[in-house]
Amino acid sequence: MYVYVCFDVEDLVHPDSDDVARDIAEMLAADEITAMMCVVGEKARLWERRGRDDVIDAVRRHDVGLHTNRHSVHPAVAEYLADKGWEDGVAEAMRQEGPGVQDLSRILGAAPSTWGTPGSSWGPQIPAATRRLGIPSNIYSHARSGETGACWFAGQLCYSDYMSLPGGEDACGDDAAFEAALPTLLQRISDFQRQGGACLGLFAAHPTRLRYTVFWDALNFAHGQNTPPESYRFAPRKDDATYERGLRNLRRMIHAVRDLPGVELISVRSLNNRILPPADHIHWEEIRPLAQRIAESDAFCADNPQASPAQALDVLARASLYLAGDTSIPDTLALREVLGPINSPPALESPIKVPLQVMVALARELVDHVDTTGHLPTRLIAQDTPVGPGPLLRTLAVLFLDLDRGRKPDQVIISPGPEEPDIAARLAEEGIYRRLPGWPPHPPDLVLDRLALHTRLQSWSLRPAVLS
Ligand SMILES: [Zn+2]
Repeated sequence: MYVYVCFDVEDLVHPDSDDVARDIAEMLAADEITAMMCVVGEKARLWERRGRDDVIDAVRRHDVGLHTNRHSVHPAVAEYLADKGWEDGVAEAMRQEGPGVQDLSRILGAAPSTWGTPGSSWGPQIPAATRRLGIPSNIYSHARSGETGACWFAGQLCYSDYMSLPGGEDACGDDAAFEAALPTLLQRISDFQRQGGACLGLFAAHPTRLRYTVFWDALNFAHGQNTPPESYRFAPRKDDATYERGLRNLRRMIHAVRDLPGVELISVRSLNNRILPPADHIHWEEIRPLAQRIAESDAFCADNPQASPAQALDVLARASLYLAGDTSIPDTLALREVLGPINSPPALESPIKVPLQVMVALARELVDHVDTTGHLPTRLIAQDTPVGPGPLLRTLAVLFLDLDRGRKPDQVIISPGPEEPDIAARLAEEGIYRRLPGWPPHPPDLVLDRLALHTRLQSWSLRPAVLS
């Protein structure tokens, strides 16, 4: 199992927190360990402005990710996405995060290999936006599918699973607490590995919390409030002995994880390259089992590494067009990245019976919509009735199997049933409603419903990632 070691380098308030990032970077480089230094864009700009070449040089020896452009400075990620739809949300995320990509690349000498969620401020447009910004993955992602620890969501490679020492940085600074906590962490990592985990983040520390007892943003950016730099409140500082102990135990923890049987430490940059890139085609013989799985199940799952539900629908529509058109069957079909619909689909109340040629025309319309937008349509009209992608997926799976057996039905029945992948509601519940309200910088009145809606809709694009 691959384990990537992460540090969130984010403190915009205490200037001497810069030293902590440097000390950690130098300590691990001496051990020939490459860590993920997940740096806030504004933090890197502060180093540059303060002339901290020592910090920059130390951090450059590691893998670098973008821990957002401005972290908890409002509006934070979920705040700037809360009232957005899909395209305007992606555009806003690119506008907000773009300067972080540019500045990190310029100051630290490498484009970020990942984007790391700040606290629990996440939105479903982030994966798509960071992909368009040229960032190849996300860590601490709220999107998840399968058990490997990596998935594809909205066209982005997302790592969801990570673990940390119980008690965190404070336990690192206290030998007794550390001794008690370390076996628990090691046990959890081994359990994850036994359950099929292929890659896992070891969240090692917020460097600032090895030195300060309270988070910089809890003091200055809580509940939607921005504090200007001239009014910053500073946290109580841990003494040098505690700080040194924290570094020492941090190192012990990382070594202990590295030495677990079957574990290999890896940079996120290298891990990105060990994930199989999305397949660009599917063999014709593979379409039948794909259709059977959908036709025989009451629900449709987003746990097939071969194709997301959206890709399955796109493939079944195109394959059915070949069969219905009596043209020669190709050996393979292109597998395209297809995102979920951008609005809430209608719920089909009762079955509709349509002639075969009407269903074929709907399949053509669906394929054309994907061609022009890259998304599934929110709805198509079948004999005056709006139909969402859920019923279309089931209908086309059954139709494909019929046509494939050489049977051309005169009529096709579009039946009511699930309108979204079975994981959609859970993803919105766990990824949005449960996680976002608990982050101290979020305002208490943060509206979550549109974030949840787009999380559900993009679950159409979800599938587990596979390691090569
Ligand atoms: Zn953070």
